[in-house]
Amino acid sequence: MPFSDYLGRAARIIRESRHATALTGAGISTESGIPDFRSPGTGLWEKEDPDDFTIESFNRDPKAFYVRMLPLLRVISAAAPNPGHKALAEMERLGYIKTVITQNIDSLHQQGGSEKVLEVHGSLRTGTCLSCNRQNRLDDLVFFLERGEDLSCRHCSGVLKPDVTLFGEELPPDFQKAYREAMRSDCMLVVGSSLQVAPAGYLPRYCKNLIIINYGTTPYDDFARVVIRAPAGEALQGILKELTSFS
Ligand code: NAD
Ligand code: ZN
Repeated sequence: MPFSDYLGRAARIIRESRHATALTGAGISTESGIPDFRSPGTGLWEKEDPDDFTIESFNRDPKAFYVRMLPLLRVISAAAPNPGHKALAEMERLGYIKTVITQNIDSLHQQGGSEKVLEVHGSLRTGTCLSCNRQNRLDDLVFFLERGEDLSCRHCSGVLKPDVTLFGEELPPDFQKAYREAMRSDCMLVVGSSLQVAPAGYLPRYCKNLIIINYGTTPYDDFARVVIRAPAGEALQGILKELTSFS
């Protein structure tokens, strides 16, 4: 089947749905220069140790944790939304997509114009104080770390932990909202996720019309109505074009 037929089929499913949502993962942001976890050759797991991304590792030595993460934080803070993020934002504006559920922590959906975003693994925009539990904005995270300054709470000088879900931690309240959103969705557009990180990776199971845009295979490929193995930006812009040319 030609590529354009896949796009047309995906657009038709979205158009015929009552409540379509998107579920995105690190793969939607690789075209913005942020590595994902599992792509062969470029994924973070090729050179990083997953044990460094645990809550135990953070608690053991927060300062060392921040130093290890600095190169990745630099890349994330310099990244800009790509055509994939922008296409999803436009689909939301036009009423085709109700919500973007993202596993990403990079805020690129919001920067790309999406308004209804559920961040099931949190974000780097804020950090919570380990002493007084208050939330602080992390606007100048990289700037402070590069100057060797501690990230401390503005209320009590306690240590700040970024509000991202590290391995071994509970998920934020957005996950419950995402679960409810998945339950009421009759169409889910999965973009750039291996669907291997639980429990976010289980969300597609509640939805009968699945569209998957991903280079690699996922455990849900056999249940999907369309699987598109193409760059997320190109595929999403193509689907958007199909949607807008019809209306
Ligand atoms: P993953 O690395 O497990 O899977 C990413 C998938 O995207 C892979 O299957 C890969 O084949 C595919 N992919 C990569 N680039 C693509 C492209 N341009 N077009 C289409 N497909 C592409 O990522 P995951 O499922 O999101 O799970 C990793 C976890 O780590 C998540 O919690 C995620 O939030 C987090 N993470 C986030 C970021 C970020 O915020 N940008 C970056 C790395 C990891
Ligand atoms: Zn504090």
